[in-house]
Amino acid sequence: MQKVLLITGASRGIGAATASLAARRGWAVAVNYHRQHDAAQAVVDAIRADGGRAVALAGDVASEADVLRLFADTEAALGPLSALVNNAGVLAPQMPLADMDVVRWQRMLATNVLGPLLCCREAVRRLSTRLGGQGGAIVNVSSAAARLGSPGEYVDYAACKGALDTLTLGLAKEVAAEGIRVNGVRPGFIYTDMHADGGEPGRVDRVKAGIPLQRGGQPEEVAAAILWLLSDEASFTTGHMLDVAGGR
Ligand code: NAP
Repeated sequence: MQKVLLITGASRGIGAATASLAARRGWAVAVNYHRQHDAAQAVVDAIRADGGRAVALAGDVASEADVLRLFADTEAALGPLSALVNNAGVLAPQMPLADMDVVRWQRMLATNVLGPLLCCREAVRRLSTRLGGQGGAIVNVSSAAARLGSPGEYVDYAACKGALDTLTLGLAKEVAAEGIRVNGVRPGFIYTDMHADGGEPGRVDRVKAGIPLQRGGQPEEVAAAILWLLSDEASFTTGHMLDVAGGR
């Protein structure tokens, strides 16, 4: 039976690249998006044109009702879930912590921490052999910011990604005996729309001289790492954070 993968925030950037690569590797893919339906539908159309199976599903990962519906719709459209990529995430304009307000933090925590917690819970409920599932894999998309802290720019975002790393570590141990592997990737500077949301569209080019490999990364390079962690080639790997950051 074809394996089914749900990717949150797959209308653009790393999520969209992961959806395309997953479909080429034989996965049926649920392409979640928040607001940009047309972008998500374009990802799905390209997969279908290539002979793959995919569906675009709206949903805010920060909303429990949306997440419950997202998982139900994924299985109704594509069949029983095999894997989850917690990719949806948001950035906010660069500033020192002393200038940040609570509205920003609520949005940041809701999308970047509460969302992955909700999605992990729904995935485990379906995949766990203890609960009648077939096992599976989860990959959480963290950030090099979790290691570096992003001082003066977005300490709040970095802290959210640190929480995601700890979630990955703990959940991996908790469900290892239930047939579920849980890993993460920590991308460095990748060319996506996210930097414009952070207030600096040209950010990757500005900082690339400080990256040991001397360039920013492409979404496809992160997607390849995610697909490896999801695959049977990574069958003895769990609780691991894979840096995809050009040596930074
Ligand atoms: P992006 O291009 O800005 O795309 C963000 C995606 O997340 C979009 O598909 C967006 O949907 C979706 N999204 C945002 N809020 C959502 C919500 N509440 N519910 C569901 N979906 C939501 O971002 P990206 O750069 O590919 O980033 C993907 C992941 O990689 C994030 O977790 C980010 O923190 C991480 N990361 C990125 C970089 C980088 O340099 N780009 C570096 C390290 C880590 P819509 O299109 O509908 O808005």
